[in-house]
Amino acid sequence: MTDTAATPAAPTPRAERVTHFLVRDVALPDDLGTLALVTLDNGLDHTKPTTLGPQGIAELQAVVERLHERATAGEIVAVGVTGKPYFLAAGADLTQVAAVTSRDDALTLGQGGHAAYRALSEVGVPTFAYINGVALGGGLEIALNCDYRTVASDAAAIALPETGLGLVPGWGGAYLVPRLIGVQKALDVILTRPAQNKPFKAAEAYELGLADAIFDAADFLEESIRWTAAILRGEIVVERRPLDDEATWKGVTDAARQRLDATVHGSRPAPYRALDLVTAARDSDKTTAFAAEDEALADLIMTDEMRASVYAFQLVSHGKKPVGAPDPSLARPVTRVGIVGAGLMAAQIALLFAQRLQVPVVMRDIDQERVDKGLGFVQSQLARLVSTGRMSKDTAARITAQVHGTTDVQDFATCDFVIEAVTEVLGLKKKVFAELEGIVSPETILATNTSALSITEMAADLQHPERVVGIHFFNPVAAMPLVEVIHAEKTSDEALATAFAVTKKLRKTSVLVKDRPGFVVNRLLVLVMGKIVEAVEHGTPVEVADRATDPLGFPMPTFELFDLVGPAVGLHVLQSLREDLGDRFPASPGLEKLVADGTRVVLDAPAKGLPKPVNPEIQGVFDGAGGAGAADATQALDAAGVLDATLTALTREIGLMLDEGVVATPQQIDLCMILGAGWPFHLGGITPYLDRSGYSERVLGKRFLPDGVANVPRG
Ligand code: NAD
Repeated sequence: MTDTAATPAAPTPRAERVTHFLVRDVALPDDLGTLALVTLDNGLDHTKPTTLGPQGIAELQAVVERLHERATAGEIVAVGVTGKPYFLAAGADLTQVAAVTSRDDALTLGQGGHAAYRALSEVGVPTFAYINGVALGGGLEIALNCDYRTVASDAAAIALPETGLGLVPGWGGAYLVPRLIGVQKALDVILTRPAQNKPFKAAEAYELGLADAIFDAADFLEESIRWTAAILRGEIVVERRPLDDEATWKGVTDAARQRLDATVHGSRPAPYRALDLVTAARDSDKTTAFAAEDEALADLIMTDEMRASVYAFQLVSHGKKPVGAPDPSLARPVTRVGIVGAGLMAAQIALLFAQRLQVPVVMRDIDQERVDKGLGFVQSQLARLVSTGRMSKDTAARITAQVHGTTDVQDFATCDFVIEAVTEVLGLKKKVFAELEGIVSPETILATNTSALSITEMAADLQHPERVVGIHFFNPVAAMPLVEVIHAEKTSDEALATAFAVTKKLRKTSVLVKDRPGFVVNRLLVLVMGKIVEAVEHGTPVEVADRATDPLGFPMPTFELFDLVGPAVGLHVLQSLREDLGDRFPASPGLEKLVADGTRVVLDAPAKGLPKPVNPEIQGVFDGAGGAGAADATQALDAAGVLDATLTALTREIGLMLDEGVVATPQQIDLCMILGAGWPFHLGGITPYLDRSGYSERVLGKRFLPDGVANVPRG
């Protein structure tokens, strides 16, 4: 594995990219007076969002002091705040936040932002935020601390994502938002959306009440200034909603706490701290509430969960540039795509290729009925996109015209890129490739979407095995951001470069993976599933085993995951990994019986968004199937024991994967598990968690990542 001993120290964080606050005077119409317009700008292009670090905040404080003097002197009648093109501000500079080494410094950071924002709100004249673009976290909070807000119709992302990053909206957001838009909607903004990583569009932010007016992007600033004048003249009055009453506030926050307990299980502190702040916001004064936000921020900045979240966020943000990919100029042009199969995956892949590559796509299955079903799927998805306003009719018609179905393999003759997604049987896939080789040009790239078969083996008998590459999509294809690009033994750089070029156009994050069983995501997910089932086979009650991973905050309990992937598919991959990699992947007669009988492994969720409980009836199936522990219940574990066995196995497996060179670095494992399995940011994917909980040292004798990269430095 990577020798972490050679890189003992965390890299020093980059210097703050300072955001400046540029002031210019704007004469308001009708001699109303002067508006001081403050523009946030870091002097860099749109690929470098404006963020807020200590130096920027200090500059804001100084600027606001000067504005206060001018307001007192009667030189200005209003202050407006806006940003450079596309951004108001993308929030606090997380690199700086994650570099803080003491709680005192963390407290100072929070207090600095509060002081500057509060000074702005008390500058002595009405304050207006013109949200011209992205406004995230501290960027949105600067607007929330103003008296009024307008938003541009094309502002791409408006959100308070802090609780997803191990923080709270601590520059006023937790106090101001529930008082502005009501406690129920505020919890959607502060807790629900960050968990889904779904910022608001401009129109949604306006509907919610985060902005008082929305204007077309084309003349946004002019309209916002006209609106400002109308407010100052009293022609427009913005009615603020009254505070929710005490009973509503309590009911909503109590229900949110129950929901957190059922979904987060105390696995990370940030959402609970945010909920505490919102709960108190109704009856607190601003000074008390802001001080409580400072304390929460200071505590959270000094948690490993926050550091791991920032590590994960940065991995995901930078993940678009694949590590280890060959020179992109080696990629071959792709002008016509063939898809072998028209089943569940093939039809989704066909739609995505037609949508994003904008080239003809031909999809083949063994009979017309299956072809029609695949085409029907593409049609229905396009119709849904049109009916929900997410695609124009013209675009849908254009895509429809690009997707063809066939039963004739000769229709692949002119394809320069063919991906197979036929039934997961090695012999079948070999046959498909052999047949293709007789039809397509020697330059055509052949890709496979196999989940677990050896791609090296699949290509072995071809005349040109070097053209075969794995492109492993996840289901549902449109929604899952990850693809594993698999390098088989003979895969050429041209084939790999083409695969990366294609997946980039598909807007996926691609990770280069060596052709080893289960690649990254399935190998680790199925290992976890296997360890949970193994515990049941040894007499641990199903409910105990199922919920054993709750303290990690995984997206769902294990049997719900089984239900999602399909118990038969899960069992199949478990068995094939056991064959290839050995009995670290346990046998499970109970699971075999469940699949054979078609028994449902979970019950319906008690409410939308809550976990699905395991079906208690499956206990009997496991007990009666004659598994390893049937005769010896003394090996039964409690939940902590099951979790320990699972984490030990995960650590060992990741160590082996790095030794085998499945991926280049632990970071690539984390990226795969975050984007391919939804493993949480606060675990940093998984290796930061295994480091900080001591598993990597205990099992492998060394850490995966240097101290301080994804945890508070131990010193
Ligand atoms: P599926 O059963 O829905 O589709 C397979 C299709 O292949 C069927 O329509 C079948 O008729 C067709 N087929 C069989 N032989 C063919 C041939 N010679 N020529 C053309 N078509 C042929 O299966 P699926 O779930 O779409 O899986 C397809 C592949 O994708 C498998 O390798 C699977 O491991 C992989 N995969 C599946 C998932 C998933 O979640 N289902 C996720 C990632 C990868």
